[in-house]
Amino acid sequence: MLEKCIMCSKKLKREKVDYEVCGINLGKFPADVCSCGEQYFDEETAERMTEAAKKAGVFGIAKKTKVSYTGKSLMVRIPKQIAEFADLKKGEEVEIVPEGRKKISVRVVD
Ligand SMILES: [Zn+2]
Repeated sequence: MLEKCIMCSKKLKREKVDYEVCGINLGKFPADVCSCGEQYFDEETAERMTEAAKKAGVFGIAKKTKVSYTGKSLMVRIPKQIAEFADLKKGEEVEIVPEGRKKISVRVVD
């Protein structure tokens, strides 16, 4: 167990924190938390968190993909695992929203 924060060397507090991946809450896990926002997990807890993410089907779900183009539009392929997770099917209507200079989100329109 750590005594002080590696980032700012303030004293750490033992707390249970929510572990959220892809908008799914995977439960609370014990962590040493700093007021600067850093959180430290021990090895056993980190393993349990990985298991929880695997069970929920979100472990390692982020994938790299290249931008290609068709005609005048750019095209980004959505990997199968992400499409399945988002329940996204061919022909479905989506809304594309730039959330910043380096982030674009795709929302399924209900
Ligand atoms: Zn800190």
